[in-house]
Amino acid sequence: MAKQIQKFLLISIDCWRYDALGRTNPSFNTPKFDLLTQDFSLADRFFVTAPATRPSHVSLFTGLYPFEHGLYGQTYLKMFGGVQNLFQLFEAEGYHAFGRSERSEVFRFLDFESYITARDSQAKSQHLGSLEEIIESLITPADQPKFSFLHFWYTHGGYGLSGVRNAPNLGAMVKAGQTEEALRYYYAAVTHIQEFLLVEILKLLDLDQWAIFIFGDHGEGFNTEVMAHGDVLHQNVAHVPLLANIPGVEQISFPADQPVSMIDLFPTITSLAGIETGYDGYGQNWLDSSEQTSQQNRWVLTELDSLYGVGFLKASNLEMPHYRVTSRMTVDGEELPRDPNGRRMWSVTDGDVFYREDELSGHSVLRSIADGKDLNCLDPQLYRNHYEDLLIGSNYQHLSMQDSTEEEEQILEGRLRDLGYIE
Ligand SMILES: [Zn+2]
Repeated sequence: MAKQIQKFLLISIDCWRYDALGRTNPSFNTPKFDLLTQDFSLADRFFVTAPATRPSHVSLFTGLYPFEHGLYGQTYLKMFGGVQNLFQLFEAEGYHAFGRSERSEVFRFLDFESYITARDSQAKSQHLGSLEEIIESLITPADQPKFSFLHFWYTHGGYGLSGVRNAPNLGAMVKAGQTEEALRYYYAAVTHIQEFLLVEILKLLDLDQWAIFIFGDHGEGFNTEVMAHGDVLHQNVAHVPLLANIPGVEQISFPADQPVSMIDLFPTITSLAGIETGYDGYGQNWLDSSEQTSQQNRWVLTELDSLYGVGFLKASNLEMPHYRVTSRMTVDGEELPRDPNGRRMWSVTDGDVFYREDELSGHSVLRSIADGKDLNCLDPQLYRNHYEDLLIGSNYQHLSMQDSTEEEEQILEGRLRDLGYIE
């Protein structure tokens, strides 16, 4: 077991897909980044809890699934009350806890919002900003314990193509079967983040001191089922890379035949810092092998809820004063507009197969993670049982009880009824 660590850096690359990395894709051209991270452990079965930025990061910072922390989907405004998060925990332990984001307003109304500021406070366009502020806050004062988070948005939809003359329509290219050609533009954006920005940061950090985790908050579809990420649960979106450096740990021994999840970072990181949290969620501490053996046959969950539709991430909503947000889905006491095409889906995976189900239509798909091919699903109940186990076994049900609307309770009830749990 490593000794108590004083320096933490969490790096989230928005929309970072599993194949946008030199170690998983030999044609990916990032020699400097690959050198700097060559001794990092790679989790090759790492899954996010949601296909959207807000709920996924809430899972990162709380160790809870969306149905436990309350951000069921991107447009839900607030978390359930009474959920602890990494920023507050680390700050209480005397760490300088801070985050820098190229899209800091995306974290608006979440409990840890005040910790995350712009990547460059002077820059009008964040992707044109300087890295010097970030680097300064990471390396000085040298003896200050740090819990830090960086979030890169340049890799999000558009991939830096906006304003580029003759920019192609990537969605149309994918539909026309030119996926590899379309992916070049996305890969270029990820390459830029890794090979310029991250290289300049990572080369300054002492790997014997810093615990560093680099991961995607979700992937990106680039296929005919889902082009971006938030519309449908898909293995290209749920499965992302995670690289980790932990001082004193040569390689993390990720279980070869089990999945790991975004919710694992919370217990792993707090344990490395020696912080007692009373955490009782499904996340596993990657350095505690007894936990892994106790959770053999692990299935991890990804949830999508787009009932409240699109358009939330516009300035008029994000600049609204806090008092106007009167509940998780109401503003000034009025429910947010519903999206007529909104959906609720869930998926479970063991790292080999991916099963997803649409809660409203009941339509389901089983497929192989390795090659993305659909499989014949003889018994959907098998997978529903894994989902049911997670819902029923959660130690955080009291959070939803205190803070759910009547309608949400009806939805939950309906879900349990569909699963055959109640009559
Ligand atoms: Zn995102």
